[in-house]
Amino acid sequence: MDFTDVVGHQSIINNFKKIIMKNNISHSYLFEGPKSIGKSKVARVFAKTLLCEKQIGYSCNICSSCVKFDSGNHPDFYINKTDGEALKKEHIEDIQKSISILPYEGKRKIFILEDIDKITKQAQNSFLKTLEEPPKYVVILMTVTNSNILLPTIISRCQVLKFLPLEQEEIINLLINKYKKSRDEATVISSFSNGIVGKAVTIAKSNEFHDIREEIINIINEVINSDRARIFTLKEFFNNQRDQIEEILDLMITWFRDVLILKELNENEFIINIDKKPLLSSHSLKLTKKKICEIIKIINSTKMNIFSNVNYDLAIEVMLLTIQEV
Ligand SMILES: [Zn+2]
Repeated sequence: MDFTDVVGHQSIINNFKKIIMKNNISHSYLFEGPKSIGKSKVARVFAKTLLCEKQIGYSCNICSSCVKFDSGNHPDFYINKTDGEALKKEHIEDIQKSISILPYEGKRKIFILEDIDKITKQAQNSFLKTLEEPPKYVVILMTVTNSNILLPTIISRCQVLKFLPLEQEEIINLLINKYKKSRDEATVISSFSNGIVGKAVTIAKSNEFHDIREEIINIINEVINSDRARIFTLKEFFNNQRDQIEEILDLMITWFRDVLILKELNENEFIINIDKKPLLSSHSLKLTKKKICEIIKIINSTKMNIFSNVNYDLAIEVMLLTIQEV
């Protein structure tokens, strides 16, 4: 694992390479950005590169430090994963004990505190002392979804690096080259991933997404083209997919958004479900612009209703009937 395995975030990586070459490393970094965007991976690679014996701006992958790091047995590398639990004062005290011990092998000791979104106030206050005056050999890397939960005094002692969503083309290239998707498939998946590489990879690997999407597109087609009686049998599908209703409604919104774009612009460039162009076109011919807008509106309000705990069956039934009637 090295910087070449990271997808996107090139300016952050280039900056790291530079500061490693110049030996101009800060003592604490805070990586901020959405879940699964690549913060943890960059933190690990940065840690490995900081520990590498060669100090050439990237990890050499052959020195004893790199080999130990890859095998998960580097004595000067410490990682704390919270797994969704709060990071408490006791945890911080354990980490502080470890920080006070000199490195076993090299010149540095690296600590990753992953997903500190639920760090308590007490834990932050007790960690503050460490961040103010860390031992010279220590580098602390923390990852967080939203830094608003942290005390300003914590943030001001860290170099904050914001991880932004990737360009669609970066994700498309990854899906084509590494996951052997066609360009059309990769375009669909990248649109649903919102620039978050981990989400794109999960979708790419899961047959479930593929199957549900096919089923949803069939259902949309049936609702538009069949009689009212069929709607009551379609409700069964929605009943069985309660856990994934948010994704399903999002899929439906993107579908009708595409139908609208085809109707208005007739341009492929902005179409998400590009692999289903013939069916999209037939829907755009069948529905008026006003109808399509009403459908998008009813799906959005169904989404809101379900999250405010309105009767699920009723909300779905009203949505299906409205789509058919408009
Ligand atoms: Zn090395």
